[in-house]
Amino acid sequence: MRPERSTASVSLRLYRTPGKLMHERYVRQWGLELMNIGLFGGTFDPIHLGHTALAGAALERFSLGRVYFAPVNIPPHKQKQGLACYLDRYAMVALATREEKAFVPSLLEAPPVAAVADKKGQVNLSKPAANYSIDTIRRLKLALKKSDRIFFLMGIDAFNEIATWHEAEALFQECEFIVASRPRYSLADLANALPEKLRPKPAVTKPFARQPASGDLVLPGVTVHVLEGLEKNISATAIREAVAAQRPLTRFVDPAVAEYIKKVGLYRKG
Ligand code: ATP
Repeated sequence: MRPERSTASVSLRLYRTPGKLMHERYVRQWGLELMNIGLFGGTFDPIHLGHTALAGAALERFSLGRVYFAPVNIPPHKQKQGLACYLDRYAMVALATREEKAFVPSLLEAPPVAAVADKKGQVNLSKPAANYSIDTIRRLKLALKKSDRIFFLMGIDAFNEIATWHEAEALFQECEFIVASRPRYSLADLANALPEKLRPKPAVTKPFARQPASGDLVLPGVTVHVLEGLEKNISATAIREAVAAQRPLTRFVDPAVAEYIKKVGLYRKG
């Protein structure tokens, strides 16, 4: 039995309607001028061509009016040693997004701007807290129209960890997801990565174990759109290693980002 055939009985449904068409249908049907908005968070240490390819593909396929690139100040999961400072990562995001009108560098996860002195003139410099995506999305929503749709962009490696994120179930209520898949991942992998309360039973996902992750995964309280064919073997880790080894960055990052890394002396050894 082909997995698609089993959908009616198991409620793990695959929609193949491109997001663009869905969007146009909404506008026609309801006369709403809603905007699809992408939110792309990451350490962006540095931002690379894999990130912009994902955002570009999402922009095209889901008619996103804007994609906010929000470098995280303090990542809850990656408590990495030696993360480049927020301002450098933000500057590189601004450089890498400058040529696409819909790409917007965002300060949504910036460090607190000013330290305020108390009555005795003392400044409290307590360590800023980690940034949680659920808070960022709620903050973003306050600035948007109620009719706008938010899509959270990420790679499948990050989506695999989603169940461990702060208020993971609430995240699925607040937004839809656009996930860039990789060839070895199946639709069942995506479903099995969901937070426990949203995860279908193994008997339901089993038929999808051999089916490459594609199309849309729609379950009660969950909408995940899969972007395929974006396999770019680029990671920020490899870029930092390339800088340290004095190898060229041309294949990995925007030339302006490469220039910034060089000028500022980021990621050099020692
Ligand atoms: P690092 O190597 O330091 O772990 P990274 O390259 O994975 O970094 P992040 O800033 O941590 O970059 O990733 C931000 C988001 O971009 C994550 O959702 C991640 O899955 C996704 N992502 C990272 N690299 C790629 C890529 N080559 N193609 C598509 N998505 C990617």
